[in-house]
Amino acid sequence: MKKIGIPRGMLYYENFPFWQEYFEGIGCELVESPKTNKEIMDKGILSSVDEACLPVKITHGHVNYLKDKVDYIFLPRFISLHKMEYCCPKILGLPEMIINSIDDLPEIIQIDINLYRRNELKNSFQELGKSLGVSKEVSNKSFRKALKKFSNYQGWLKEELFPKGYSFKEGNFSILVLGHSYNVYDEFLNMGVLGKLQERDINIFTAEELDDDIIRKYSNFTNKRIFWTHGRRILGASKYHLKKATIDGIIYLSSFGCGLDSVLSHFVLKQANLYNVPFMLLTLDEQTGEAGFNTRLEAFLDMMKWRDRNQSHISTFR
Ligand code: SF4
Repeated sequence: MKKIGIPRGMLYYENFPFWQEYFEGIGCELVESPKTNKEIMDKGILSSVDEACLPVKITHGHVNYLKDKVDYIFLPRFISLHKMEYCCPKILGLPEMIINSIDDLPEIIQIDINLYRRNELKNSFQELGKSLGVSKEVSNKSFRKALKKFSNYQGWLKEELFPKGYSFKEGNFSILVLGHSYNVYDEFLNMGVLGKLQERDINIFTAEELDDDIIRKYSNFTNKRIFWTHGRRILGASKYHLKKATIDGIIYLSSFGCGLDSVLSHFVLKQANLYNVPFMLLTLDEQTGEAGFNTRLEAFLDMMKWRDRNQSHISTFR
């Protein structure tokens, strides 16, 4: 049985149920890299270019972990996830960055994920199946099953990606944790922010919980159309929760040096100010210390609670 390595980085957090169903359906064995840890991060930093953002470096580390344990590593090239929208250039170029930075890799399975073009996804997986010696019929059947499984993505997200499972308690404070999915759900990268909020009985919302039609409806407030799918998701989720008054605060997790986040966080900050909701931007890189991170988190939660006790003159921005 062919062993396919799946690095637990970048868009893994949005796609793993699909990949799992597809590869297992065509008779492959999946090997996931473990959750990010210090060793994975350090190896990723050593093997990637200095200019890369932390999630890209961490993904290098996951590939490094897998390279001697599998026959293939799956590194799809995400180009577009919606018509007239694109992914960040670093996501587009990730397979080439990795191939040119890490020695002695096993065979890399590269396919284009380009949903701008009709049927491109199905064709890409057909090509993938063919390269592994799988017939078109078996590949298509597995693809259909994978699509079906993917329709329950939100169930997987709540079971697998929240450190202590997902629960909502009426009457508790609620925070929207925003950012790219790899910043929000990689517990090591974000120093366990979801778990820390859960320990303090804070309800958590994330952008990935919302259906795409809601995101599209609520992200239409900018003068110029946002052409990054992840950007739309972040803006749509913030606007939806601010308008519905479901949240007491927003925490934006950003990677140091991320061009997209520098624009998006500014939009979210303006919206949060408009609705008078506290906002905090946490920028993460490999130098971020946990003590300072915790202090900022505590200060933000204290400020949120003071404001709740009618001291609304306290600034909403930290
Ligand atoms: S969107 Fe930002 S964090 Fe994500 S890959 Fe691009 S630069 Fe890195």
